[in-house]
Amino acid sequence: MSTHLPKVDHTQFDREKWKVWHKNHPLIIHWRLNPGLAFNELILGQRNPEVMLIDKHSDKAECDSTFVPCPHCGELNSSKLYAHDNAFKNWAGLYCGSCDKQIPTVLNLFSFLALIITFPLFICFTMFYKEKVKTASIKRTKKLREQYTNNTLPTAEDTSFTKLGFQFGLYFFGAMCVSSLFLSDSMTDFELRDMGVLAICSCFAGLLFGVLMKFMVGRKPKRT
Ligand SMILES: [Zn+2]
Repeated sequence: MSTHLPKVDHTQFDREKWKVWHKNHPLIIHWRLNPGLAFNELILGQRNPEVMLIDKHSDKAECDSTFVPCPHCGELNSSKLYAHDNAFKNWAGLYCGSCDKQIPTVLNLFSFLALIITFPLFICFTMFYKEKVKTASIKRTKKLREQYTNNTLPTAEDTSFTKLGFQFGLYFFGAMCVSSLFLSDSMTDFELRDMGVLAICSCFAGLLFGVLMKFMVGRKPKRT
């Protein structure tokens, strides 16, 4: 999908200033090999850039100090341009906020296999929908870039991880209740006691999610 694109030369970046994530980084390898992420790529339209730079000297959280270099114009796009409203629906790829050209992304191995098997669908998408999806992606990126430039995008410091954990716990509880009801032979099988157990499990799931998000999103870059 991105083989025709120019590559970002990851060796050009100053390793004293930047922590460089590229093809050998464990998270990029994980993106390529995790079968579950094929769902994110093909169904949700989530894409991961091939190269990301983290400013080692920034005192902001890692998600606020990560940049995506453009191989066309050299712009360092904030990774936040590919989050928020623009985290998904990027089936046609990611686009630079400055020159609107496509940024190379990682392709999951299982997405690749699925695309080979369903290649007529892929060709139809390219012929009829790619331009429309691409225009929408560029528009979302431009909008976020404007917000980023005006400092109106929320930062990790603005994020309430307690609220995130609570929302996840609530969602988890709802999903578990619905699936338990479907799996029960009758409505009476699903008792109040079961709901109590699910509520306790949901509290733990929400707490775990909140802590994980705080660690992943809110951590500061290491200066090594
Ligand atoms: Zn560019």
